[in-house]
Amino acid sequence: GLGTMSIAAILSESARRHHDRPALHFAGTTTTYGELWDQTRAYAGALRDRGVGPGDRVALIIPNVPDFCRAYYAVLSLGAIVVPIHLLFKSEEIEYVLRDSGAVLAIVAAPQLGEAVPAATRAGVPVVSVLLPGDHPAAASVARLEVEAASAAPIDRYESVNPLAAATILYTSGTTGHPKGAVGSHLAMVEQVSAELLDCTDMNVDDVVFGGLPFFHAFGQTSVMNTVFRRGASIVLLPKFDPAAALDLMVATKTTIFTAVPTMYIGLLGAVSTRGVTGALPPLRYAVSGGSALPVAVLERFEKAFGAPVQEGYGLTETSPVATVNDLADPRPGTIGKAIWGVDVEIARAFAASEGAGDDSESDADHVEFLPAGELGEIVIRGHNLMKGYLGKPEATEAAMIDGWFHTGDLGTKDAEGIVTVVDRKKDMIVRNGYNVYPSEVEDVIMRHPSVSNVAVFGVPDDVHGQEVHAAVVARPGARVDCDEIVAFVKDHLAAYKYPRVVHVMEALPIGASGKVLKRELVGQFAAEGASA
Ligand code: ATP
Repeated sequence: GLGTMSIAAILSESARRHHDRPALHFAGTTTTYGELWDQTRAYAGALRDRGVGPGDRVALIIPNVPDFCRAYYAVLSLGAIVVPIHLLFKSEEIEYVLRDSGAVLAIVAAPQLGEAVPAATRAGVPVVSVLLPGDHPAAASVARLEVEAASAAPIDRYESVNPLAAATILYTSGTTGHPKGAVGSHLAMVEQVSAELLDCTDMNVDDVVFGGLPFFHAFGQTSVMNTVFRRGASIVLLPKFDPAAALDLMVATKTTIFTAVPTMYIGLLGAVSTRGVTGALPPLRYAVSGGSALPVAVLERFEKAFGAPVQEGYGLTETSPVATVNDLADPRPGTIGKAIWGVDVEIARAFAASEGAGDDSESDADHVEFLPAGELGEIVIRGHNLMKGYLGKPEATEAAMIDGWFHTGDLGTKDAEGIVTVVDRKKDMIVRNGYNVYPSEVEDVIMRHPSVSNVAVFGVPDDVHGQEVHAAVVARPGARVDCDEIVAFVKDHLAAYKYPRVVHVMEALPIGASGKVLKRELVGQFAAEGASA
């Protein structure tokens, strides 16, 4: 037989081993592992009484508050499947995910009820709320999980499941069309967490880890929540990232590990410089970055400001998420390091995407051709960390998973030592007059300019050149950006066809809830401006 396991063991076992140690710090209070597991068992009892059982899908729309963790492990401990929904999703998007996932219940935080209740009503999915109601009129008429849990008999132990059974469905927003639900197994999560703890970090039980990465997203869910709980360390929860608040919180809680996406690094550096050199800093031991490329200049500024090394890793929702990571003892800034334990990463010849209908790429698409060290191609991945597939989308799964290798859509290289470098996403590559421009290379240069705090480079459709290179630049606090100077700076460092022809100075870049710059919005905005000009 296959044996049994559950992601719920991560919390349940830590409650046994670290019963009285802190698991969560939130709003000035601390929750111990024992308390968190007891609350989880009570929530599970209430969900069981509502009929939730093995294989059922339960949607979560909850920010990073203790109730996210309770609801998450309660659902998993019943052998049911968690469907965390993006916190910025509007009613229609929520409805889509509820229907697509076949959710039987939605557990919704009070502030999200306004969008969620109409969506759930249309999809015919019952809603139960968490957090004290009050701030939304819908809250008064919605059942409350805390109340139901108070009168339900708690479960004794988690339901044991087949390790390969579905545990999570995480929706990736995708560039076009509807989001796809990546189905993750219990095994993938448990293996991923073990690999991170054994080989990638030296997290110990005394560590206090920053919890500002959203748990609905793979990065926060795996590399923060499950990894920290597996280890028995603690998390400082921050439901909404604000740089100054994050800095204060990290100082107050003596945070030792900062795990974040690059925009959070940039925000935190801004908060530090606004506050001045005499301001208190948290006692960071190290920091982890992922989710998008960390410009080397940001890495260096951060290491200098905080006196702690930064470890950059790489992955996707479909790979649970981590696939590669830098070695803290031998980091190579500007790279994403080597494949983690049990995972293979190769560079494959990149075929034209499926729009290349008519050419002969179709017939080549059923095998993978690996490229030698140093050559540029598509990053492909196989290993324990792969998703089971996209829910209900066999063609999309087949298109992404060729010969057992997941095709990431990212372009990169791997050197003879196995160190991987991401060049950019295939879909973000700009083709100007037939020349390829990789935005992240240009961004890396612009970030080195002393007046710049953040930048996004993107391609805007252009009648003459096919695409034109644009940059949206945000100034550092107290600095002024001179567009001509930015252009000259790029020309000094890169070939002439790569410099941005148009530089937009912005107050802030559009950032999604998972902390990434929304380039599509920038392209849309400036394409529209060009058309109307
Ligand atoms: P969505 O699919 O929801 O639109 P997304 O593509 O950002 O969003 P994720 O799974 O969150 O989905 O992100 C995976 C992508 O993030 C990778 O394919 C890669 O492009 C990018 N990425 C992650 N880590 C790094 C890194 N260290 N350097 C460069 N890019 C990275």
